[in-house]
Amino acid sequence: MAKLNTVDAVVVGAGFSGLYLLYLLRKHGFTTRVFERGDDVGGTWYWNRYPGARCDVESMQYSYSFDEELQQEWHWSEKYSSQPEILAYIQHVSERFDLSKDITFDTSVTAGRFDETANRWTIETDNGETLRAQFLIMATGCISTANMPNIVGIDDFKGNIYHTGNWPHEKVDFTDKRVGIIGTGSSGIQSIPVIASEAGHLTVFQRTPHWTVPARNVPMTDEYETLWKENYAEKRANMRLSPSGSLRSVPPLDLSALEASDEEREEAYRERWAAGGMTLLKSYNDLLTSDEANETAASWVRGRIAAKVNNQKTAELLSPKTYPLGTKRLCLDTNYYETYNQDNVDLIDISSAPIDRITPTGLETGGHSFTFDSIVFATGFDAMTGTLLRINIEGRGGMTLKEKWHAGPRTYLGLMSEGFPNLFTITGPGSPSVKSNMLTSIEQHVEFVTNTLIYLREHAVSTIEPERKAEDDWVDHVQETANQTLFPKANSWYMGANIPGKPRLFMPYIGGVGAYRQKCDAFAAAGYEGFRLGLDSKAVAAE
Ligand code: NAP
Repeated sequence: MAKLNTVDAVVVGAGFSGLYLLYLLRKHGFTTRVFERGDDVGGTWYWNRYPGARCDVESMQYSYSFDEELQQEWHWSEKYSSQPEILAYIQHVSERFDLSKDITFDTSVTAGRFDETANRWTIETDNGETLRAQFLIMATGCISTANMPNIVGIDDFKGNIYHTGNWPHEKVDFTDKRVGIIGTGSSGIQSIPVIASEAGHLTVFQRTPHWTVPARNVPMTDEYETLWKENYAEKRANMRLSPSGSLRSVPPLDLSALEASDEEREEAYRERWAAGGMTLLKSYNDLLTSDEANETAASWVRGRIAAKVNNQKTAELLSPKTYPLGTKRLCLDTNYYETYNQDNVDLIDISSAPIDRITPTGLETGGHSFTFDSIVFATGFDAMTGTLLRINIEGRGGMTLKEKWHAGPRTYLGLMSEGFPNLFTITGPGSPSVKSNMLTSIEQHVEFVTNTLIYLREHAVSTIEPERKAEDDWVDHVQETANQTLFPKANSWYMGANIPGKPRLFMPYIGGVGAYRQKCDAFAAAGYEGFRLGLDSKAVAAE
């Protein structure tokens, strides 16, 4: 058999995580190959090119902190950058650090098998390449497998079908077109106002109204940029130890919403609504733990919806009532509710009558037919586990990750899974990941993994994997932490509830980014507490 190419590490994915991994591993002398299914870098920001796509974490915070010159030199043109600008930034980083020479594009990793004799992963790709690596690092992102609902007749539609998470590279022209859009999560809420501004007519099919607050995006000012750039060291340090990995424009009040008077609450919510962004959710310290406290903010937001939307029947439909504020991902919008005041926009409630079928000319629901030139699916993702479980990953004894995670993901710290030595998941389930500023969490995981690899090399250790008990305890801790909050009350993708048949459990860790980082650091400092380290037999024999 021909000798296989061998590297120290194979990284899957060339988004924010994969690029930083490549940069750091290379810097520390680890031979590294990156495989990316797209034809360029960017990950999430490569695929999600839908109209209106932008980040809802401020760009001064949703950016790499690892290189001082980079963060000083790069200029963001808006407070919340649009997808093209974020993609341009990622491409700039790739060029600046000469990363793409070690990335194989247009190539998916299809399988990884752990060879217990050699303590190496054998990795297969869909371009026929097979290679060996000591470490297999999944930088595959949390929302990278689009969820296309299985609706009868979908292949019969004669017009154009789009998914927000897999949008064409060229501009889609909706001018004067009849467009239907299914889904009102973050992607729907961002794209609906933009599509409505172009389309002849837009029909929105809503199964569940989502909570959304104004983004209040503005062009970047010199003053704001300077404030951040002159204080980056301190601000980034505070972000790393904060609960969410980002700093709020209006600080949270460390007080129960129920201790405040009606007037005080009104002022607190009004101030944060005016400031825009996620800050409203952090007005008081119990909005996500007490139904009663949550309802004070929820009913206040319903009042804003009623004030913005002219037709009160539509306003009612747009007002969430079945789950607490913020327990599905809070959306940030620009003119979302105002869009429903346009004559060319209709809202169709499909909460009790699902879409029956897609027809050659449109779709049918609740006994009504609709005719469209284009249908947009803003129906989300098989999040957090979908991409990992579509790759055939086999650990010790030939056990697959799919088998091990049949009742839900099982990880230690969201980083590793017992039985899968030297396999790392960047922002994996069980880590703060999607419940944090992803950039803060990505940098923390990438640095943790790189430092781990350095430690293993220095100590002649060939394998690392979690101890079963540490993993079991962590899985319990993640669930217990979530169960102390209102999050499990929503049928969210955090819970796996958006994918038929997916196990229901809360996937991200919401114990806080700072607290999580401190745990990781403490375990590493204690000689990787909770991990089992396998000594390199050759090194031992040589001693
Ligand atoms: P999502 O939040 O999962 O929303 C999907 C929408 O499609 C929901 O309204 C859902 O209704 C609906 N849907 C799904 N299947 C359906 C079906 N068979 N029939 C009818 N409706 C259906 O997905 P997303 O909007 O793409 O957002 C996913 C995540 O990506 C966000 O939560 C966020 O973390 C991230 N994201 C971030 C940004 C940003 O930073 N600006 C932008 C976009 C996305 P139900 O609610 O009833 O399930």
